[in-house]
Amino acid sequence: MNWEDTKEQNNFRAAVQNFIKDRLPQYYREKSKKPAGTALQADENGIQYHEDWQHDLALGSDEAKKGAKEWAEALAENGWSAPHWPKEYGGGGLSSMEQFIFKQELALNGAPLVGGSGVAMLGPTLIHHGTEEQKKEFLPKTLNGDILWAQGYSEPGAGSDLASLQTRAVKDGDNYIVNGQKIWTSQGHKATWFFMLVRTDPEAPKHRGITFVLADTRENGVEVRPLISGGWEHATNESFYTDVKIPISRRVGEENRGWYVGMTLLDYERSNITGAVELKKDIQSLIKFLKTEEGVKKSTVKDRASVKNKIVDHFIEAEVLNNFAMRIISMQAADQIPNYEASTSKVFGASVQQQLQQTGMKTFGLYAQIWDSLSKWAPMNARFTQNSVHSISRTIAGGTNEIQRNIIATRGLGLPRG
Ligand SMILES: Cc1cc2nc3c(=O)[nH]c(=O)nc-3n(C[C@H](O)[C@H](O)[C@H](O)COP(=O)(O)OP(=O)(O)OC[C@H]3O[C@@H](n4cnc5c(N)ncnc54)[C@H](O)[C@@H]3O)c2cc1C
Repeated sequence: MNWEDTKEQNNFRAAVQNFIKDRLPQYYREKSKKPAGTALQADENGIQYHEDWQHDLALGSDEAKKGAKEWAEALAENGWSAPHWPKEYGGGGLSSMEQFIFKQELALNGAPLVGGSGVAMLGPTLIHHGTEEQKKEFLPKTLNGDILWAQGYSEPGAGSDLASLQTRAVKDGDNYIVNGQKIWTSQGHKATWFFMLVRTDPEAPKHRGITFVLADTRENGVEVRPLISGGWEHATNESFYTDVKIPISRRVGEENRGWYVGMTLLDYERSNITGAVELKKDIQSLIKFLKTEEGVKKSTVKDRASVKNKIVDHFIEAEVLNNFAMRIISMQAADQIPNYEASTSKVFGASVQQQLQQTGMKTFGLYAQIWDSLSKWAPMNARFTQNSVHSISRTIAGGTNEIQRNIIATRGLGLPRG
């Protein structure tokens, strides 16, 4: 199979490369020099966080905030802060293959994607189901970073079986009055708005009593609390709703049709090429370090041959993940909808990431016991030690491995349910 760019694709790739060269803010140029898979930052209490684009914009230093805003605005000029949205709504109107090339180049050059779940999920939902007022109010601010969104779907008793959600919304005049709890909300401490699924009809079959609403989390009655992971990371949150008024004008789509509204995705590129590129970079930086004097000194594992073999295995696995990405994008480019293929790539990618972190730890023997990224004894700033803990959640987030395997078994392999 020939996966070389066509002439047009090559021209588009060159345009993206030139754009990054000209417009990437200095803040991100400096950041891109840090090795891949770098350990997380920590605040004064030792709570760790990813310095991603949302963090830079909402909670970063002045320089980080400026860099994040400048980059979002530069991308927005071309519609590239939302590559898959139609042009008429400020998006790029890019084909899936162009989105693939765009994301690949951003990942290769250490330039962040912007917009988070607001661009990836909410925007397409509003474009498809929103009123004109909602589109006018929310789409431009989502594109330029004035509003950061988080996805408030999961609840303590509703994750894999999301349609069992219980957060209750009762109509009262022009408002819904919302009571309940959401959990695991990524970016919830940076976002000011949540898009949420709430139960409006408890009597209806569970998928048919759910409504999609937009909640301003700064309003009275909403409390967002951090959930600190086993690796001291603040990535997700829980939120509590006590008699929160959500105007009916902030409902998206019809009442009780929220399940179907929430499933909307416009032509979104699903290859996870960003994950494939980052995995490769991570392996390359381990290999590079092991060739340095410090690397030789700190790779104290007794059975060097087995670690060497593991690194070779990961190198091969990274190529396989890249091929999964190519396969998925080839399907999308041919107007086919990837289904179990995306699940296969997710299970495989999560597992390779986790195993790579463990191999990194094994390589460094007792040095891998050091958690503190600033310790002079910590190989590669303790990144493999830290990331071996942080990567555990990859098995769960975005649909657990068991659920993905169910999809592969039934839709991919045609095995019977149950
Ligand atoms: C880091 C992280 C970020 C997240 N971000 C968000 C977010 O931004 N917004 C949001 O709404 N949610 C988010 N989630 C929630 C995530 O979608 C759920 O955790 C996930 O869907 C699993 O649901 P659960 O935690 O309720 O586990 P459960 O569904 O209770 O699953 C428990 C165990 O049972 C297994 N299981 C369940 N059902 C089946 C089945 N039918 N067959 C076989 N095994 C099964 C699961 O695989 C799992 O091992 C996040 C989670 C994590 C860890």
